[in-house]
Amino acid sequence: MSRYIGLALITLSLVLASCKENSAEVTRDNSEPVAVNTLAASNAVKANNADVSKYLDFNDKADFEAADRGFIASFPEGVIKDADGNVAYDYGVYDFLEGASPDTANPSLWRQSQLNAKHGLFKVVDGIYQVRGYDLSNVTFIEGATGWIVVDPLITRETAKRSFELVNQELGQRPISAVIYTHSHIDHFGGVRGLFENDSDMSGVEIIAPIGFTRETISENVLAGNAMSRRAAYMFGGLLPRSPEGQIGVGLGQGISNGMPGMIRPTLIVDGTGQTETVDGVEMEFILTLGAEAPAEFMFYMPKWKAFCQAEIINRTLHNMYTPRGAKVRDGRLWSQYIDQAIYMYADKSEVSFGSHHWPTWGAEDITRFWEGQRDLYRYIHDQTLRLANQGYTMHEIPQRLNLPDGIAKSFYNRDYYGTVSHNAKAQYQLYFGYFDGNPANLDPLGPEEAGRKFVAYMGGADNVIAKAQEDYDRGEFRFAATALNNVVFADPDNKVAANLLADIYTQLGYMAESGSWRNFYLTGASELRNGILDSPTPNTSSIDMVRAVPFDLFFDLMAVRLNGPKAAKKDRKLNFVISDTDEKALLIISNGTLHHRMGHSDDDAPTFNITSEGLVALNAKQKTSGQLLKDGSAKIDGNPLAVKGFFDLIEEPPFWFEIVRP
Ligand SMILES: [Zn+2]
Repeated sequence: MSRYIGLALITLSLVLASCKENSAEVTRDNSEPVAVNTLAASNAVKANNADVSKYLDFNDKADFEAADRGFIASFPEGVIKDADGNVAYDYGVYDFLEGASPDTANPSLWRQSQLNAKHGLFKVVDGIYQVRGYDLSNVTFIEGATGWIVVDPLITRETAKRSFELVNQELGQRPISAVIYTHSHIDHFGGVRGLFENDSDMSGVEIIAPIGFTRETISENVLAGNAMSRRAAYMFGGLLPRSPEGQIGVGLGQGISNGMPGMIRPTLIVDGTGQTETVDGVEMEFILTLGAEAPAEFMFYMPKWKAFCQAEIINRTLHNMYTPRGAKVRDGRLWSQYIDQAIYMYADKSEVSFGSHHWPTWGAEDITRFWEGQRDLYRYIHDQTLRLANQGYTMHEIPQRLNLPDGIAKSFYNRDYYGTVSHNAKAQYQLYFGYFDGNPANLDPLGPEEAGRKFVAYMGGADNVIAKAQEDYDRGEFRFAATALNNVVFADPDNKVAANLLADIYTQLGYMAESGSWRNFYLTGASELRNGILDSPTPNTSSIDMVRAVPFDLFFDLMAVRLNGPKAAKKDRKLNFVISDTDEKALLIISNGTLHHRMGHSDDDAPTFNITSEGLVALNAKQKTSGQLLKDGSAKIDGNPLAVKGFFDLIEEPPFWFEIVRP
C-alpha cells in the first residue's frame, strides 16, 4: 500500500486519475466484471423516482436548448488520448445517457447528466467560446487583441491540449495571450501546460489569479490529503463502471480526466473587488469571492461583450457547502452575499453569463432569475439551519425539517446534483456548533465496532437484525435498515448475509439519489461490501509543478502530521534542515511525540540535513530516494548519519486503500 505515497497526494486529481483508469478498463473492455452491479430497482425506488418526475417540469427543455446553443464541433473519436495512446478522457462512455431515464436512476440526475455529457466547442457569443464536456470543468477562450485569453484550463495537460487543438482547428490558429485561473481548485488550472508547446511560448503571457491562489492550491488539501483522496474515489465514482446501474455523472460534470496536472505560477494577482485590468486589450472588472466555494476565487465582468464569468460561485446545481470527500465547511452567508453583489453590480447589464461548469445563460431577465435563485438557495439553507438550531434542533434533526420553498426548489439549477440540502444544512450547523449537538449521550459514545457488537447483542443476535432489516428492505424503508446492518457489519465484518443485504440497500439508495455524489458514495460502498476493496494499481503521476509549489513551512506541517506520535514519544531530538541552494533553513524539534519547526533557525548541536531544492522536489515526487540523493550529491549530512536516519524513520506514510464500509 505504501506505493501510494508522497506529496503527490495533495493533488486531488492523482487518485481520481488512477481510479478513472480502473473504471475505464471495466467499462470499455468489459474485461474486469468485478464491479458490475445487476440489482434491479425496487418498487420504492420506482415510486420515489416517479414522484420526482411529477414534481419537476421535465417538459421544460430550455436547458437543453441552452446547452446545445452555439455548437461548432466535437471530436468524433469518443476518447481523448495522450501522446502514448492512453485514454485521458472517455466522453463516449456516456452514450447510454441518450436513452430515457431507467428505473435505476433518479430522473432528475439523469437529466442533469444528459446535459453535462454534451461535449464540444461552443460559441458563447462572437469572441467568447467554450470547450465543454472533455473534463469535469469547462475551458473558455476569449478573443484578445493578439491571441486567446484562456479561462480555467481543465485538470490535465492532455485534455487542455486537445481542447486548444479543437479551437485552433475550428477558429483559426492564434497564440495564447493570457491565462486566467478563477480559483484554486485543480479543475481550473491543472491543464495549463497543455496550452503551450514549448516553455518559450509562455514568455510574456500574463497569468491572472485571485490573491492567495498559489498557497491555497496546495494548502486546502495537503494535511488531510490522503484520506480526502481516498474518499474522493467514492464521491466521483471512479471505481464504478459507467452504466445505468453505475456512475452516470457527478452533477457538476461527468468525470475527471486522466493525465498530468500542472501549474504555472500567476504573474498578476487580483486582490480586491472593483479591480479592473485590461488583459490583451479586453477590460475586465473583478469581484473577489474569498472563502465561499473556494478559499481563493473571483468572478469578472467584461463590458465589451456585456459578459459575466460566474467562475464556480453560480452554478446549475446546488454546490457543496460541505464536500463529502471531506474538507473544511464553506459559509453559505458569504456565498449568498457574493452572488447578491453580482446581481446589483451586473445582472441588469449582462447579456450573457457563463461559468466554469455547465452551460451559459443569455439575456438579462434569465440571468437575473438564475442568479437570484442561486443567491436565495444558499441564504435559505444557511439562515434556516440557524433558525432551527436556535430553537434547539441539532445537526441530524435539521435536515429532516428543512425543506426548500417551491420558488427555490422547482428550479433545476437549484437541485441537489452535487451538494444536497441535507448535507449542506449539516455543514452550516457544523460551521457554528461543530460536531457536538449538546446531548450528553453523544459526548462519549462507543466506537463503531464496540457499539456494533453491543447493538447486535441487545437485539438478540445478528440473525434478528438481518431479519428485521430484510422486512424494512421489502417495505422500501432503507435508511434505518442501513444503520442497523452497518452495526452488524462493524460487529462482524465476515457476516456475508449482512454485508450483501447492506450492499443491496446502498444500491437502492444510490438509485434514488438525485445527487451524483451521494449516488457514487452509495454504489461504491455497495461494491466494496460485495467485492472488497479493488486493489487498483495507482500510477505514480506526481505533478512536479504541484510538488514545487509546496511552501517550505507547509512541508514541515505535513511531516508533523505524519510523525508516528507513540513511536516518537520517547525520542526527543533536533535536526537542522537546510535547502543548500536557497539558504532557507529550519530547525526541527521532536518533543514528546510532536514535531515543531522554527523557520530560519538552527542549532549547532544538532545534525544537519542539506538538500538542494531540486533534490527536495525529486524526493517529494518519489522520483528519488534519500539514499540516491545522498549518493548523487543532491543531499548531504553534517553530523551523525544514523541520527538523521532515526529522525526520518519516525515519519510514516499513510495507507491509501483503507476500509470505509467495514471496520
Ligand atoms: Zn470546479
